[in-house]
Amino acid sequence: MRTDRTFTMLKPDSVEKGHIGAILEKINAAGFRIVALKETQMTTADAQAFYAVHNERPFFGELVEYMTRGPIVAAILEKDNAVEDFRTLIGATNPADAAEGTIRKLYAASIGENAVHGSDSDENAAIEGAFHFSGREMF
Ligand code: UDP
Ligand code: MG
Repeated sequence: MRTDRTFTMLKPDSVEKGHIGAILEKINAAGFRIVALKETQMTTADAQAFYAVHNERPFFGELVEYMTRGPIVAAILEKDNAVEDFRTLIGATNPADAAEGTIRKLYAASIGENAVHGSDSDENAAIEGAFHFSGREMF
């Protein structure tokens, strides 16, 4: 994947609360082009693999439970400086620390259930995008 792309998931809490449209609108308004988009549900094995980097952390079990309890919306997004700009748009991991107007400040309930994922590097954006989408699903 190109370095002007990032990967996001609208997590199960966002889907449950009916926030798909509002969050996608924020993403569009911030100048990201949607390259790929789908609603899907991760299996336990999927979530364990996706978050493997965190498998020693105390919150790993809860994270896998949360991320598999219902559907998510996965997307690949394109913009100059996509990874960094999207992390700015979503705000800090803990919504209590997130800046005003960020997606997590607006829609996240807690550090665990924090509404959205955003890749942390160009390398991980490519890995995570390929985890969820085939080449024929990217435009
Ligand atoms: N998480 C959690 N407790 C923590 C830290 C993280 O439940 O103390 C969850 C949260 O859903 C977070 C995800 O694990 O989004 C991945 O953590 P990371 O540190 O990568 O945060 P992010 O990159 O999502 O801001
Ligand atoms: Mg992360």
